[in-house]
Amino acid sequence: MLCPVCGAPSTRVIDSRPAEGGQSIRRRRECEGCGQRFTTYERLEPQLMVRKRNGRLEPFSPAKLAAGISAALADRPVSGSSIDRLVEEVEASFHGAGSQVRSEEIGREVLERLRSLDEVGYVRFASVYKDFQGAADFEKEVAALESAE
Ligand SMILES: [Zn+2]
Repeated sequence: MLCPVCGAPSTRVIDSRPAEGGQSIRRRRECEGCGQRFTTYERLEPQLMVRKRNGRLEPFSPAKLAAGISAALADRPVSGSSIDRLVEEVEASFHGAGSQVRSEEIGREVLERLRSLDEVGYVRFASVYKDFQGAADFEKEVAALESAE
């Protein structure tokens, strides 16, 4: 935590106690650079929940999403760290949007980013996550990609 006054990177916790009825922890800190004291609150980040198409609710799993994206990118020249970054960006895009998101919305966020990362992976992922009505839609999507080149 950077000092809000001088920007020094090292601060010391001088007091720590539960606050907001135990929902958070209040910390008094002192800057080791300029001696300024300030207060921080630590709160639990609400777990992002995903509403599946079948109506079931389950916790958002970065590992599961990464596995799905990896499958779409099999044999493609995209590194694992690019996939991890994409998953982080997708998860971050839902912060502050409430604690619940539909799986289609996650799919849409992934697609938006995959499109610029790898077109083959994009089409493969789209075939799974978009509500394709069959092969015709899939072909339309491929044709749209090809005409965009
Ligand atoms: Zn300071």
